[in-house]
Amino acid sequence: MTPRVLALDHVGVLGGAELSMLDVVAGLGDDVSVRLFADGPFREALVRRGVAVRVLDMGALAFVKKESRAPSFAALRAAWQLAGGVAREGAGARVLYANSQKAFVVAALAGRRSGRPVVWHLRDLLGRPHFSALNTRGAVMLANWGAARVIANSQATADAFVRAGGRARIVRVVHNGIAAEPFDAVRDADAQALRAQYAPAPSYVMAVFGRLHAWKGPQVALRALSALPADCQLWVVGAPLFGEHAFEAELRSRAEQLGVASRVQFLGFRDDVPTLMRAADVVVHASTLPEPFGRVIVEGMLARRPVIAADAGGVREIVTDGVTGVLVPPDDSAALAQAVASLRADPARAAAIANAGADHARRAFTVDGMVRGVRAVLDEVMR
Ligand code: UDP
Repeated sequence: MTPRVLALDHVGVLGGAELSMLDVVAGLGDDVSVRLFADGPFREALVRRGVAVRVLDMGALAFVKKESRAPSFAALRAAWQLAGGVAREGAGARVLYANSQKAFVVAALAGRRSGRPVVWHLRDLLGRPHFSALNTRGAVMLANWGAARVIANSQATADAFVRAGGRARIVRVVHNGIAAEPFDAVRDADAQALRAQYAPAPSYVMAVFGRLHAWKGPQVALRALSALPADCQLWVVGAPLFGEHAFEAELRSRAEQLGVASRVQFLGFRDDVPTLMRAADVVVHASTLPEPFGRVIVEGMLARRPVIAADAGGVREIVTDGVTGVLVPPDDSAALAQAVASLRADPARAAAIANAGADHARRAFTVDGMVRGVRAVLDEVMR
């Protein structure tokens, strides 16, 4: 049977949006086929999960960035051509499901050309400070014109869409879900081995996870580290996924300037996040701007680690301060250092928060729940 859903994403790397889509499409099984506009580890991961996937060339559309002003004529032409390709690829499908903003632009055009409804899984907080006014206006106008439904990954994402002029009627909130199994499967011996490899004993390890980008706030964790005792260590886990190599260099020299370089491990992109989280003492989310959702927070909870997170955006839908985690103001390294110090000083409280977080994450953010939510929206549209 031809899959009813043609799913689209424009990137080849494994960002949070792609990791989430991986679980969604794997959950939809034979009912979905995927087209990516770039090759890379995302395609390989889809293949490993048994998902049908092909790569289409996105041409000049590759050069449009989210901070961009008006897209070039070449980019518009590339989007139009790609839409033709997607319309052909989706001839047998009943719905186009777009997982990224560029994929949605193409899907909206393709949907018009082929008469297929389009669902946009929105994983960004539209509007400032993340997007230019022009980009936001363009995205919202296109959504109001070309999306049968918008799935928002948090209420914060839904609210930002509506605030920017998006039609509330078409929005459905489906929180991300994250599989607990890889976290439950972590072996103590493996976590201990990583700990021994990356931190001297005795020590207290805080760890940040995410692509290296200024708004993800690893620099805030560095500053916090410099205010903490000398046996405190920081693991920075993640890579510059979208070309932010200058930021990585800046971060390393910042560690030197702050005199903490010997207490920081830059671990690059890892596929053993569950084990690394278990090996750390506290998982820190330090984004300086509101986060649309924040998978790493749920993951820290699943790893049974106390999580400290930046109090903004979708994070507030995940963490109850002092109960399932600790919230600190964004971009406030003094507050972060204070929160780390107080968890360290009170291991019983840290354990209680970690356990409450683990229970909450297992109930509220399941992959099943997410797949059911997405499937319900797709079904709604196909009816
Ligand atoms: N991640 C990973 N390896 C790394 C760093 C991060 O697999 O080295 C994963 C992390 O576990 C999480 C995702 O990347 O699942 C980041 O998602 P999040 O929602 O936190 O941020 P996004 O990248 O979507 O802005």
